[in-house]
Order: sequence, then C-alpha cells, then structure tokens
Amino acid sequence: MRSKEHVPFAVAAAACLVGLSACTLNPATGERQLTLMSEAQEAAMGRQAEPQVLASFGEYPGRDWQTYVNDLGQTLAASSERPHLAWAFHVLDDPLVNAFAYPGGYIYVTRGILSHFNSEAELASVLGHEIGHVTARHSVEQMSQQQLAQLGLGVAAAVSEDFRPYAGYAAAGLQILFLKFSRDDERQSDDLGLRYMTRAGYDPDEMPNVFRTFDRMQIASGRQIPDWQSTHPNPADRVGRIESQIVRLPAELRNGKVGRDEYLRRLDGMTFGDNPRAGYAVGNTFYHPDMAFRMTFPEGWKIVNQRQAAGAVSPNEDALVVLTLARESTPDAAAQAFFKPENIQPGGRWHDSFYSFNATAADGSPIRGVVGFIKHHDAVFQLIAYSGGEVFDRYGNTMRRSLTSFGELRDRRYLDVQPARVEIVELPRAMNFAEFLRSYPSTVEAPLLAIINQVDENDTLERGRLMKRIVGGELPDR
Ligand SMILES: [Zn+2]
Repeated sequence: MRSKEHVPFAVAAAACLVGLSACTLNPATGERQLTLMSEAQEAAMGRQAEPQVLASFGEYPGRDWQTYVNDLGQTLAASSERPHLAWAFHVLDDPLVNAFAYPGGYIYVTRGILSHFNSEAELASVLGHEIGHVTARHSVEQMSQQQLAQLGLGVAAAVSEDFRPYAGYAAAGLQILFLKFSRDDERQSDDLGLRYMTRAGYDPDEMPNVFRTFDRMQIASGRQIPDWQSTHPNPADRVGRIESQIVRLPAELRNGKVGRDEYLRRLDGMTFGDNPRAGYAVGNTFYHPDMAFRMTFPEGWKIVNQRQAAGAVSPNEDALVVLTLARESTPDAAAQAFFKPENIQPGGRWHDSFYSFNATAADGSPIRGVVGFIKHHDAVFQLIAYSGGEVFDRYGNTMRRSLTSFGELRDRRYLDVQPARVEIVELPRAMNFAEFLRSYPSTVEAPLLAIINQVDENDTLERGRLMKRIVGGELPDR
C-alpha cells in the first residue's frame, strides 16, 4: 500500500502512460511532465502576450537598459536547458518591484526592481529565476488563453467595448493579472536561477541579498511584490534554503563576478517611484503634464491612474469617471463610434459634445451615464461617467461637473514636475548612515533609502563606497 504522499506521483505516472506522446522528460528539472501544450503553442502564448504586456506597462525609455538586460538575459538563457527558445527580455516602465515570465521565454523586469539591486549578479539571479519558470515549464498547462486575453484589457476596452460590470472595474480591471506559481515551483526556480547564474560566472552569494531586500520591503511596508511576494515562499526562509545550497557548491563557482560598482554607475539617472509626467493627483484634481490637461474628480472618490486610462471610483464602488484616448481623430467620429453598439442608446446632448446615454451591461443590468468627446492638442479624449441605472440620480450632477472640469494645464508649477531619480554618489570619506543622509539629502524616507542601498541604519560606510540617493520628484502642494 502506498503512503498518501505517493498518490500524486502515481496519478501523474498513470496519466503519462495513457497519453504517451504528451509525456516528456523536462531537461531542466529531470522530471516527467504531462505537456498538453506543444512547444510551439507555448511560444505562441508568450509571443501574443508580449505586445499586450508592453502596452499595459510601457517599456522603460531609451535603448541602454533594454539592451543591457536583454544581453544579460540571453547569456543566462543560452546556458539553460532550452537555449533554442526565442528568449526576449524587457524592462518595463513601472515603479513596482516586480519580475515575471511568460511561456516561451518572454521575461519582464520593472525599473522598480532594477533600482533595488546593488549588483549585476543580483540582476542575474532574478533573471535566472524567471528563466527557471520557463525552462521548468511551470503552470503552462494551467494558463488559459482567457487569462492572456484579460491581461491586455485596458480600462478603455473594458468601459467602451463591452460594459463590464462596473463594480469589477475596481476589483479586477485596475490590476494586471499575474501568473501565480506554486511554492514548489518557486523553490525550483530559485534552484534553477542559482544554476544559471553560476554557469554564467556570477557570484552565487549575491542571490540571497535579493531575498533579504524583499524581506525588508515586506516588513517595512507590507506592500505587495506581485510575482515575487504573494505566492513566493517567505523571503527569510528562502535565504536559509538557498544559502545551504550555495555552501555545497564547488569552491571555483563561489568567486564569480559581482559587478557592484558598474551596475550602480549604470543606475545613475534612472527614474524612481511613480512618474508624475504621466499623471498625478493633488487633492482630487488630476494633472497630466505630458498631455497638458487637468481634470477634477468628484470629492472623496478614489483616483486611479493607469497607462491607458485615468479615472476615479466612488467610495461605494458603484460609480465611475474614466478618461481615455479615443482612436478617432475628431470628437464627432468618436461619438459615432461610441454609440454604434446596440446596447448603448444615446440620450440628449447636454453640453458641446457631451451626451447622456443608457446602456445594458453584459449581465443585463441597466447602466446610465454621461459621455463627452474633447479634442485637446492632437488627441481626442473620451470622458465617461456612469453607474447602475438605479443610483445614477445620486451621482449625475457630481459626475457632469467632473467631466466638464477637463481643461488645458497651463500652470508651470504643475506642468514642470519631474520624476524622482536615482543619483549615485561616491563617498569621499567614511561616514555612518545618518551622516550620509545629512551630507546627501534624499527626497525619500531614510528606511527606504537603507533598503535600496542594502545597509542598516547604524552601519558605517567606507570611503569610496558608491551609494544611491534619490533626488527630485517633489509635487506642488496645492
Ligand atoms: Zn517566481
């Protein structure tokens, strides 16, 4: 009689016997795998998601970082068990600390995670981990096309094309779906990441530094690191686990490249935190310097700014105001396109190119709203506000006032804001962390600065050490 633990293996083995052609030996993990999806299908999934991921997040501007991360990723992937995949590595223009992999070899890291690393070897360890998800074919089977389709659904599409139930906007529409791997998968990817980074000649002792940084972030803020936190094993446990593997490595693998100073010099000037050029709120007014507009959302509503849309949700999450770009080149054409679907009936025009409308949600429930189309510089904006039919009267006037507040942003105080940036300084003498903060003030709090520099607040910092400070990024008060 088999113990209970053996049952999943037995089931898997039996399944393998049934579908002979679908059962393969994974070269990275050495495990038998049921693969319902061919390598070509796997590659197609990653390839189809790529433009959607890039449109949702945006690529970090400039070729330097893209080339650098892609070159490093290609080197690591070439030493993996699946070197023939069409590997692609991108840096996303996103402040969150995150990295993720799609089937077929499509790997993404954010500028947020890059600004937290302190060496090239740390970056190599995270790229190696993500490569591991691909080589081990984690979760390929569970991923559905539907998940991929949802990924790229901007709010614009959600609002204007099929009227998703508006409550879902706040719950699901505002966040990108991340693939979730099991903890076992994550441990396996840690092991594979360690393998790939050492094969490429990097010092494995840099890998635990990354986990320590995530651990400190978790403790400091409780903030989510999507792929790297929610389903990942506790970072503190990962440190112990990976360290016990590192000590067992042959001595010649343990003196690899760190690349601390060259990595830090490269970080100099990188955008840090939210980029206010792409929109920011002061009070309930939203400012968009790059597109030179401002708009005031209803008092007390939660403002959300995404790459493809900006909006505000009522406190009860039963009404929305959303601003997007229309595809059409004139307000009239945009209005015509908007009213084309059968489930949207135009009401009266109430102000310039603003209209009332009634609509039916996908679930059959009635929606009432107001929508306007405004030409601003070279773009046509769609401004829409709506709620369930029965609560519309409560919000109608507030929403109309919000829509008609859209206008040109002229005030230089709001127009000229710039994002915060990383600046690298070389310490001219030894000093403690408090002295560093006094000598080189930053626009972020000391605990965050300690985390991104991987120092403790009572550490003494040696002369010549490179340190990150954060400069700029201040917003007007009012
Ligand atoms: Zn992972």
